[in-house]
Amino acid sequence: MTYAPPTNDYLFLLRDVLAIDQYAALPGFADAGLETVTQILDEGGKFAAEVLAPLNGVGDKHGCQWHADNSVTTPPGFKDAYREMTDGGWPLMNADPDWGGQGLPSVVSLCFSEMCSSANMAFAMYPGLTHGAYAALRVGGSQALKDVYLAKMAAFQWAGTMNLTEPQCGTDLGLIRTKAVPQADGTYKISGQKIWISGGEQDLTENIVHLVLARIEGGPAGVKGISLFVVPKFIPDGQGNPGVRNAVLCLGLEEKMGIHGNATCVMGYEEATGWLVGEEHQGLKVMFVMMNEARLGVGLQGIAVAEAAYQAARAFAGERLQMRAISGPKHPALPADPIIVHPDVRRLLLDQRAIIEGGRAFLLWTALHGDLAHVHPDAAAREKGEDYMALLTPVLKGFLTDRGFKACSDAVQVHGGSGFTEHFPVSQYLRDSRITLIYEGTNGIQALDLVGRKLAAKGGRAIMGFLAELDAFAAENQADAALKPFVDALAGAKAQLQEGTLWLMQNGVANPDAAGAASHDYMHLFGLTGLAYVWALMAKAAHSNLAAGRDADFARGKLAVGRYFVERVLPDTAAHLAKMKAGAAAMMAAEAL
Ligand SMILES: Cc1cc2nc3c(=O)[nH]c(=O)nc-3n(C[C@H](O)[C@H](O)[C@H](O)COP(=O)(O)OP(=O)(O)OC[C@H]3O[C@@H](n4cnc5c(N)ncnc54)[C@H](O)[C@@H]3O)c2cc1C
Repeated sequence: MTYAPPTNDYLFLLRDVLAIDQYAALPGFADAGLETVTQILDEGGKFAAEVLAPLNGVGDKHGCQWHADNSVTTPPGFKDAYREMTDGGWPLMNADPDWGGQGLPSVVSLCFSEMCSSANMAFAMYPGLTHGAYAALRVGGSQALKDVYLAKMAAFQWAGTMNLTEPQCGTDLGLIRTKAVPQADGTYKISGQKIWISGGEQDLTENIVHLVLARIEGGPAGVKGISLFVVPKFIPDGQGNPGVRNAVLCLGLEEKMGIHGNATCVMGYEEATGWLVGEEHQGLKVMFVMMNEARLGVGLQGIAVAEAAYQAARAFAGERLQMRAISGPKHPALPADPIIVHPDVRRLLLDQRAIIEGGRAFLLWTALHGDLAHVHPDAAAREKGEDYMALLTPVLKGFLTDRGFKACSDAVQVHGGSGFTEHFPVSQYLRDSRITLIYEGTNGIQALDLVGRKLAAKGGRAIMGFLAELDAFAAENQADAALKPFVDALAGAKAQLQEGTLWLMQNGVANPDAAGAASHDYMHLFGLTGLAYVWALMAKAAHSNLAAGRDADFARGKLAVGRYFVERVLPDTAAHLAKMKAGAAAMMAAEAL
């Protein structure tokens, strides 16, 4: 099974749906013309398909090895692939030009990230986390820290990690025990144990830069007393090269369900030297920069792995011969018809496609707003970009990974018993994608973040802006007969999302359990409504392409999947709204559990 990068889909989204060329006058976008973007997609796709994809099964089978000297070896081939990635300059694509990057918008670089995660999620996590750590240091680090670390991290010469989790603390960071003791020279001695640290040790880079949450001795209890530190594996010398070994060691690796090619490490800090990032006790604020970036990246993993699983399932369904079509044989010359003729197999495949293509569009649409939040000259556009990024990050993380995992499960189902064996790749995709619902804040926590913090932020400005944007699109396109099914579906979903939002406002404050009980369904109602919007945007662009005689086959395929989404996926909104409105009583009944 080979992975085929969906470059046509990215081009359609960037060129026809999001029309990123309209921003060509803005920093970064100026260098993201159609020619450059096409080249990035082609070359990036080649790297993902030819270098990373062949290593996906290798990583799964070999895993990472821990050695008694506390070193870790990544699976065969990972080191060379990593070198090829850095030599090719891929890491620099959307890094800041001040630190040697090209400064391209995220909406472009995320296409490359998705291809890498589809091809080999475990590998792609190493650069993915480095990018998040780089972003946190860029925002929160002192000039001195930036000077030492950022250029090396932008080039992925030095990797980054995030160290939050401890044995007694996962979701509840207020329980962190790792301690930091101030030293006379302005540094801190960091001591404690962190668990499940992705890429905590590896053999891919010359240095590893750990971003560590710890409590400064005597600091306030709970999350208010947490600070963020840079703790490098090798302390940089005066010339910015890796110097003395720091007192941080990988004490072991976790055996786990999937992503075997990514080292999940137990990390021991024994008075390791650390440098404060940002202000004392304000560590979570800066760490959130990394966490938000990582959350978007995890939403992306959700659809990326689903894309690879879909491709495998689609190929299998075209080849596996079982039974005749219920409407009569479709391939009489064969002993049986390929299973793709059966309605239920088509349901499984189209459920996947509708979510993957809609999810990709929603993610890139949001990422574009994130880019505009940084570079748009108009303050209102920057504010809207920030609002949307904050509001939609938990939706993209939680909804896309829930549905991405289901898509991987559907891909296994298409394979029948073969899908449960290790002879086919879908078993690995299903195992790999399961973690996306858990790390970077479980999906339950994303849903709580959405209803508890993001909706109410700034007087509800972001959700009101989002709902108004959907209304405006529906009003503008009401008269377009070709778009009517999409516009009507969007208007219906939007009305339900609005009703669900009002219900939360009326019931959630008086009864927090009602908000908690509704949060999962609200997140899904939100995600589906977001997809209804981007499917309408895609339908509009596909119709224009058809009218212009451009990419007609692609446009017809897009419209067919869009129609399936509207008729057979979107109606789930009603069930989610009904479940929300049932309230918390049955869930919280003492006798029930
Ligand atoms: C492979 C892997 C890689 C990881 N990589 C990293 C890494 O690089 N860095 C890092 O710091 N951590 C990492 N983690 C840790 C990960 O982020 C945590 O597992 C995650 O945050 C959840 O914490 P927990 O496992 O302790 O679950 P818990 O916090 O114990 O939660 C258990 C369950 O209870 C639910 N729950 C808890 N509190 C609430 C609440 N208030 N309301 C509703 N539900 C609640 C959760 O949603 C979950 O379903 C990794 C984990 C794994 C398995």
